[in-house]
Amino acid sequence: MSRVYNFSAGPAVLPEEVLREAADEMLDYQGSGMSVMEMSHRSKVYDKIIKDAEQDLRDLMNIPDNYKVLFLQGGASQQFAMIPMNLMKNKKAAYIVTGQWAKKAYQEAQKYGEAIKVASSEDKTFSYIPDCSDLDIPEDADYVYICENNTIYGTKYKKLPNTKGKTLVADVSSCFLSEPVDVTKYGVIYGGVQKNIGPAGVVIVIIREDLITEDVLPGTPTMLQYKIHADAQSLYNTPPAYGIYICGKVFKWLKKMGGLEKMKERNEKKAKILYDFLDQSELFKGTVVPEDRSLMNVPFVTGDEELDAKFVAEAKAAGFENLKGHRTVGGMRASIYNAMPIEGVEKLVEFMKKFEAANK
Ligand SMILES: *Cc1c(COP(=O)(O)O)cnc(C)c1O
Repeated sequence: MSRVYNFSAGPAVLPEEVLREAADEMLDYQGSGMSVMEMSHRSKVYDKIIKDAEQDLRDLMNIPDNYKVLFLQGGASQQFAMIPMNLMKNKKAAYIVTGQWAKKAYQEAQKYGEAIKVASSEDKTFSYIPDCSDLDIPEDADYVYICENNTIYGTKYKKLPNTKGKTLVADVSSCFLSEPVDVTKYGVIYGGVQKNIGPAGVVIVIIREDLITEDVLPGTPTMLQYKIHADAQSLYNTPPAYGIYICGKVFKWLKKMGGLEKMKERNEKKAKILYDFLDQSELFKGTVVPEDRSLMNVPFVTGDEELDAKFVAEAKAAGFENLKGHRTVGGMRASIYNAMPIEGVEKLVEFMKKFEAANK
């Protein structure tokens, strides 16, 4: 068996320890005589798995009691509709468009009400986060929406926007559990887990209780109502049971690693190795303004498309996978999520140095 350094933006690298544990438990989960994949989601054994997962996530993020944690399906993209359907009481919301995912959410919301673009960084290919200290947010807006870490462009909000008292809704798919957050600053925090937590198929929604109501837009499907899932503790129908089990293992791994403060330190250290190299390289350069750089997704280019392609191919042959940038932007991108070991980044930089020397 040999494992590569996987820099995929998602689905992405998971802690090897977690994968080994899951492998050990594959045929017989803790004496149950069956795999977690095979067991009833109403069984006692599974009930403990999902309850423990929720509790561990609450511990890690310090989630206050007046927030619900929901394990849902449909990926992050389903939330693009679910959020307006459930939260647009005045049929009006403010969107800050900092990349493709924010833009998709903004476009989807237009189906359900008035989605107002209050800021954007599209003028410079989403390479920065706009100043959000004094935006023109409508008095009757139901919420302000952000994508906190822009997976494709590699930007991250270092300071949350001034929402002028409106509910903040954040897509944190690609920075989930990468550092501590103050949950109380948000109305909704959600993310697909396949970037930084677990296998695709699960989306976690952390939502303040007062936002969970029966007063949803007419025609909202039962399955897309937060209240239905909150009342049933994520067991209204069959949840993505195996995926939640793996997420639970990753939560335990994060606790063992020392929690989110420690992850932040580790992630800063990892990202610095790569950014420091990019800042002094004569061949490679980062595409994001330094003050808005993501700790998780690091896009870079050589400035020559053919050389980019050569780099990606040679890197792959050397065991560094998935370094090609998103199909819409080209270049390269190294996603260095929680589970990417520091050696992975150190070795990548060593390889980049060699490539630079050979191709200058
Ligand atoms: C990947 C990603 C999405 C889309 O996730 P799906 O689960 O494929 O719907 C949405 N937002 C962000 C920030 C992402 O990184």
